Order: sequence, then structure tokens, then C-alpha cells
Amino acid sequence: MKSVFLKSGKEESLKRFHPWVFSGAIARVEGDPEEGEVVDVYTSGKEFVARGHYQVGSIAVRVLTFVQEPVDRSFWVRRLTVARDMRRALGLVGNPQSDTYRLVHGEGDNLPGLIIDIYGHTAVMQAHSAGMHLDRMEVADALCEVMGDDVEHIYYKSETTLPFKADLMSTENGFLKGGSPENVAMENGLRFHVDWLKGQKTGFFVDQRDNRALLERYSAGRHVLNMFCYTGGFSFYALRGGAALVHSVDSSSKAIDLTRQNVALNFPGDTRHEAFAEDAFKFLDRMDNQYDLIVLDPPAFAKHRDALRNALRGYTKLNAKAFEKIRSGGILFTFSCSQVVSKQDFRNAVFTAAAQSRRSVRILHQLTQPADHPVNIYHPEGEYLKGLVLYVE
Ligand code: SAH
Repeated sequence: MKSVFLKSGKEESLKRFHPWVFSGAIARVEGDPEEGEVVDVYTSGKEFVARGHYQVGSIAVRVLTFVQEPVDRSFWVRRLTVARDMRRALGLVGNPQSDTYRLVHGEGDNLPGLIIDIYGHTAVMQAHSAGMHLDRMEVADALCEVMGDDVEHIYYKSETTLPFKADLMSTENGFLKGGSPENVAMENGLRFHVDWLKGQKTGFFVDQRDNRALLERYSAGRHVLNMFCYTGGFSFYALRGGAALVHSVDSSSKAIDLTRQNVALNFPGDTRHEAFAEDAFKFLDRMDNQYDLIVLDPPAFAKHRDALRNALRGYTKLNAKAFEKIRSGGILFTFSCSQVVSKQDFRNAVFTAAAQSRRSVRILHQLTQPADHPVNIYHPEGEYLKGLVLYVE
């Protein structure tokens, strides 16, 4: 086995089961591993600490196991079985009203670099590391074994998530197993088209399921603005919740087409809904003050630490515009999915926006990602989705 030796004292975080080895912690690499190969990690005193996927970059090893066990098909089967059993415990497997859930959430399932979302009988698999890319066929075989008839098709979608510097082969999107044109999935009894071929993430934002269900409960009789709507998830929950009108906005006209299709799938001919392909900031500037339920679910404003300050300013500016215009007695659902923005940072940004608008604001709910996007207790960075539901007097 090729090996990585840490600098003295750099094993502390691994001893606390943190699953990453940063390149700066490494004293030397032995055996010239290829990107994506499995390597062993040793302390400077030559004590084994972990085994994981090697990669050139700031995160040099993504830990798969803290014991010296083979990383083979049986390993993947064991890890995927644990992931499946947890989703069963959550009531997400075999539920005819909701056949959409995340089966594997990277570090949260002790499988760093791997995402698997389930849409009906199709699994969409995404590799975020060279190692998971190299092991994709073995993982796909293990997935078939663990899921049995529940998974008939496996679509591999890693073109945009793999490290572009690694010289990897066969990174094109495509089916690893099966191949079905069927692309309608179900969430809490609502249906939607999943564009796993070209759509963002694995085709749908599975992580907002619980928060969309909460929004439904507040929607009756309200004038709803769903800003950054993408496939329109929040909009069709609002329609089912009895909203008086729902306006969906996204700068991407493809997203607006998807939203219209999904609304038509669930509420054909419903005239309460209108969709606008427009920039969020422009729309918020020109809109009147008719809305009393606003959703702000923007893309990650900061993908890296160095962008944090600008991102926080962005969140403040965006939320301030909503506070200025939302009706008295209005409810604001506001989110951040940037991993580098902490819960406290986000809350401060929204606090500043509220103060700028001089509105009286109360926090009703503090939201996060759902249970099928678990946070590994040893990897707090895995908690990325933050949301506040606010009552604006
Ligand atoms: N709320 C969605 C997910 C939002 S993803 C859901 O529940 O599924 C973020 C969306 O913001 C993307 O669809 C992207 O096209 C859109 N977007 C990015 N920048 C934008 C801007 N400046 N104005 C409006 N929409 C924008």
C-alpha cells in the first residue's frame, strides 16, 4: 500500500476522526500514488491512523476508514447498507408518496466525495473526488446489491464536480446501469420532472424537502414570492397550501421552463401561478409591496473562505430588499447554502438587513438540512444549509 506520512503532531484531527488530511500536514508521500488511489496514512512515528483516497490538492486524503481493512466491493456494500438502513429508519425508503431522497451524503455517511440521490427507481451518483470516480463501477455494483429492485438505473453525473486538474478518464455523464427516459419523481405527494441530464446538482434540490413542507403550512391565503425558484419546489407546495397567488422568479429561463412544467404537472391550468425569468435584485427593486410570504433561496454566494466578506454583504443586501417590501405581518423564509458561511455569520447578515430596514422582526424557526443529509459529528463542516423563518411586523 502506498503511504502518506504526516508531520509531527499533525495526526490530532484524525485521532478525532476528522475525515480529511490537508496537504500542509504531510511530511512525505511514498510510492508515488496516482490521483484517486487508496493510500495509508501514518503518523511521524509510523503509527497507522487512516486509509483513504489520495488526491493532489488542498485536501490530500479523504478518509474512508480508520482501520486497516480492504477497500473493496464488500466495503462499499457495508457502507451503503448502513446508509440505506438509516434512510429506512427515517421512513424514506419504499414510501409511495415520497420516492426522492439522498441515500449517500459524502462525509455524513463516511463516504467522502460521494453523493447518491434516489429518484424513484433511478439513482443519480455524483463523484466529488478522483478516488470516487475511479471506484465508480465498484460502487455502482455494490449499490445494485444493496438496493435490489428498488434501483433499476444508475446515472453518473460528475462532469462538473470532479477536480478538473486531475487527469481523469471517462468523466462524461451517462448511465452506468439501465437507462430510462422516465424522469418524474415524487416528493410528499407532489410530482416533478428531474433534469438529471443537465440540471443543477443531481437534478433537484432534495435538501429543501422539510422546509418546503413547512412553507406549505404558512401559505393559505398569502401572496407568495418564490425567489431563486429553480425547479419551482417551494411554489408548488405554496399552491397546495392554498396561496392566493404564487410568483416564481429565477434568472435562468431554463429554470423558469422547468418551474412552469412542474406547476402544470401538479396544478394544470392554475392561474394563481406566474413565473418570471429575471434577476433577483432587479425584480426586488421593481416589485410593489404585495407579497406577504417571501422565499429567498439563493445559490451559494461564497464557495471559498476568501469570498466570505462579499458573500455576507450579498446576503445583507438581498434580505434588506425583502424586508423593505414585505407586507406587515409577512413571513420571510431566508436561506444560505454556502458551507463557509456559519450559522452565526448568516444570522448576523440577516440581523443587519432587518436593522437597516427598521422593521420589527422575530425568528419563528431556525432551519437546516434534512435528516437524509446527515452531519458526521466529527466533520462539522458538513452542516451547510441554514435557514430562518421570520415574522415581519
Ligand atoms: N429554491 C430552489 C433552489 C435554488 S438554486 C429549490 O428549492 O429547488 C439557486 C437558483 O438561483 C438557481 O436556479 C439559479 O439559476 C438562480 N439564480 C442565480 N443567480 C440569480 C440571480 N441573480 N437572480 C435570480 N436567480 C438567480
